[in-house]
Amino acid sequence: ELVRIRRALLSVSDKTGLVEFARRLSALGIELVSTGGTAKTLATEGFAVRDVSELTGFAEIMDGRVKTLHPGVHGGLLAIRDDADHRAAMEAHGIVEIDLAIINLYPFEQVLTSGADAATIVENIDIGGPAMIRAAAKNHAYVTVVTDAADYDRVADAIEANAGSIPLRLRQELAALAFARTATYDSAISGWFASNLELEAPRHRAFGGVLHDVMRYGENPHQQAAFYKTVEERPGVASATLLQGKQLSYNNINDTDAAFELVSEFDPGEAPACAIIKHANPCGVATAATMVDAYRQALACDPTSAFGGIIAFNRELDAETAEEIIKLFTEVIIAPSVSDEAAAIIARKKNLRLMATGGLPDPRQGGMMVKTVAGGLLVQSRDTGVTTAADLKLVTKRAPDPRELADLVFAFRVAKHVKSNAIVYARHGATVGIGAGQMSRVDSARIAASKAQEAASSLGLAQPMTRGSVVASDAFFPFADGLLSAIEAGATAVIQPGGSMRDADVIEAADAAGVAMVFTGMRHFRH
Ligand code: 5GP
Repeated sequence: ELVRIRRALLSVSDKTGLVEFARRLSALGIELVSTGGTAKTLATEGFAVRDVSELTGFAEIMDGRVKTLHPGVHGGLLAIRDDADHRAAMEAHGIVEIDLAIINLYPFEQVLTSGADAATIVENIDIGGPAMIRAAAKNHAYVTVVTDAADYDRVADAIEANAGSIPLRLRQELAALAFARTATYDSAISGWFASNLELEAPRHRAFGGVLHDVMRYGENPHQQAAFYKTVEERPGVASATLLQGKQLSYNNINDTDAAFELVSEFDPGEAPACAIIKHANPCGVATAATMVDAYRQALACDPTSAFGGIIAFNRELDAETAEEIIKLFTEVIIAPSVSDEAAAIIARKKNLRLMATGGLPDPRQGGMMVKTVAGGLLVQSRDTGVTTAADLKLVTKRAPDPRELADLVFAFRVAKHVKSNAIVYARHGATVGIGAGQMSRVDSARIAASKAQEAASSLGLAQPMTRGSVVASDAFFPFADGLLSAIEAGATAVIQPGGSMRDADVIEAADAAGVAMVFTGMRHFRH
């Protein structure tokens, strides 16, 4: 099970740790063979390194597009060492064994995010590297493949500990890593083509990402977790800079994403928007004339739940708002940017995580969403529906007045980000009651109303804030009962997709109560 390492082929774009690793290999008497740039680096450090062209009898051609794609290399990687025919082929063609392949690929993912032009991006699609990685990994019975500098030390340790050999278990582990690497590499490449061409059908893509961070645990402490980054260009939690505070947990990342995606629904040029998230659902969302008012109104929706929440803004975080936020315990703040004064204020709360994304995502931008089910991945294009007043169809006798209309559009955009069944009450650009994740729509309506009642009592208001509000439903009301419960809570206007078999009953109930109702024709389930 131990395989002796006599010859190593090194071909790396990222030369981090290369020299130290080569030094240890060289000290173990391992012959080093290398491609152009890698050989040069090693030769400069004084290593006796053979050029790969000695194995191929071919110079690198076509600007390096073809340098290792040759039987002299692939035969050396793929030969079954104790197969007579394979040995004979090696003999006949002067092929020598390559026992250890150390390869990392052209930095396609980095070049992509650096904003390079298409020709540069295409040139950074590595061909020979993945071919060698796959060949070496396939032949792990004899060959060791290293694709990550993080493994250099343990590979050198293993060779030293095993008198010049590597055990099977390690070769197998490294083969698994190798195929994971080529799979994520190719998924990044297909993702680039698909997004360039705006191909929304999942079959144009493979799904994978590059390991970005390993968390201490997952949704619960007994679960392992990691954060993978895709090459999608979208400002958000994966691209954000952590300005202060400790590493985000799995749940933090999930909630921070939900919060930031929600505020991106609201044009920062129109008004500042604030969302406070708990367990991936908003417990308050508001737009207002000033950022601090948006925060205060978002908080007023459900001050009890907001404790320990995650707060997102669609504009640069200002000092006044920062002063207000630090009065309460919060886990994470995320915004496109943070003013210096605001950052200094937040710095007084050492553990409060502060993130700046550098921009807002476009809610209309396409992309893919993935979740797992037992034995599979479920993939769909992102919900890019953004409803405006122009999309609405009036179905009742009474039309909403301008204030109601603005609140209806606001409430429906919030409802898109609330787990189904979602019911959202809003007034003056702020949510005043949110009902999330219930199996029955009536229950969501009742919960939202009772939360509004609670908030009103805690704020010392005479009546619940749903009085004179509007209400949004993420999907149609199947019966009039959900609507009646919203009317009872004080809603004067309703926004919903429509399309139920009993739409006529629901419209009749609205008309009977003098309530204005509009249909969006678009549903926003979210699970
Ligand atoms: P070097 O810096 O040594 O000149 O090149 C190393 C890089 O070239 C590695 O990232 C490796 O994956 C890549 N590479 C090795 N052989 C080939 C080949 O035949 N074609 C292409 N396109 N890339 C290769």
